[in-house]
Amino acid sequence: MKIFKELNTRGHEQVAFFNDPYSGLKGIVAIHNTTLGPALGGCRMWNYKTEEEAIIDVLRLSKGMTYKASIAGLNLGGGKAVIIGNPKKEKTEKLFRSFGRFVEGLGGRYITAEDVGTNINDMENVKIETSYVTGISKSLGGSGDPSPVTAFGTYIGIKAAVKEKLKKSSLKGLKISVQGLGHVGTHLVDYLHKDGADLYVTDIDKNRVKYIVDKYQCTYVNPEDIIYHDVDIYAPCALGATVNSNTIPKLNCKIIAGAANNILHNPLKDSQSLENKNILYAPDYVINAGGLINVANELEGYDKEKAFNQAEKIYDTLMEIFKRSKKESITTHQAAALQAEDRIKKIATLKSFYLPYKKTFKIRND
Ligand code: NAD
Repeated sequence: MKIFKELNTRGHEQVAFFNDPYSGLKGIVAIHNTTLGPALGGCRMWNYKTEEEAIIDVLRLSKGMTYKASIAGLNLGGGKAVIIGNPKKEKTEKLFRSFGRFVEGLGGRYITAEDVGTNINDMENVKIETSYVTGISKSLGGSGDPSPVTAFGTYIGIKAAVKEKLKKSSLKGLKISVQGLGHVGTHLVDYLHKDGADLYVTDIDKNRVKYIVDKYQCTYVNPEDIIYHDVDIYAPCALGATVNSNTIPKLNCKIIAGAANNILHNPLKDSQSLENKNILYAPDYVINAGGLINVANELEGYDKEKAFNQAEKIYDTLMEIFKRSKKESITTHQAAALQAEDRIKKIATLKSFYLPYKKTFKIRND
């Protein structure tokens, strides 16, 4: 693998490899872009088959974080970490403390958080060694579960898409299918129900389905069929890549707006196919940014109300994306990427003149 060629193509600033034989840590941190601020992104623990697979994953994910933070208006850059290992068998306090020490060594250029394969407990071990960690429990002064803010942002985003496509300000009577009734899906159903939507729901976990159907009197649809159900809005809140060249021809919705990450299997191609089919797509990293907004708030001293207020701005951001998409005859996916890149380019020029900082040097003795 030609690593510098990869970094050039994807626009990365830095990749750090961490190796600690005493804890067994094999970790990689990729910092994509820090124009807007320190690179923030979760730490994924995964049993990668090859080192190359781990490198490609961390490069891909960190670049995505740059776009997500930029479009959400946060003063953060994009980064991500991966730990190579089996999260079910190889997790130890020492491993995550070792990771924390390496993160500390990056001096704040990268801030970590939980991701697939890691959890709040792991981040609490990381926190013993570094303050550059977020998404920790409320009991330790953190913001706790980000899902309520993600769900609120998704609900606001659905309203923006409905305004754009159906010219309506309320969801009353609109048919909405929700795929996945987990942390985000559950809160989302509550918002949609209160707004009068006609809900069709699914999950592979029968207990989740029973709880939601009983509580909200909504209609259950088989997990395999939900994506094709005849609705106004399809809200994927479980897996990624449900919208792809196989499923698009059979879709029966007017809008796709949900919290799942990487909804489109091939973003460029699939977003064009949706456009051709006259389906409005709310880009995933724009509509599901509530979670990132929540953990970003934790860095400044968590304020729940502020996090929800910031998530509410997802409405205006999406409206701008829809407007640009129409004006420039590009897909909403392309319009979102351009909006994110434009902000970074504009802010980059802020650093065109020298600003003297007061330096304080601290010698570590631990
Ligand atoms: P979760 O694991 O709590 O819930 C996912 C639910 O989907 C589970 O109940 C699971 O049983 C169900 N599911 C899995 N496969 C399914 C299938 N084939 N059909 C139907 N249901 C299925 O996860 P979550 O935190 O609610 O996140 C949901 C999605 O939103 C994920 O894609 C996640 O990456 C994304 N997301 C979450 C947040 C957040 O704050 N939690 C933030 C941004 C993006």
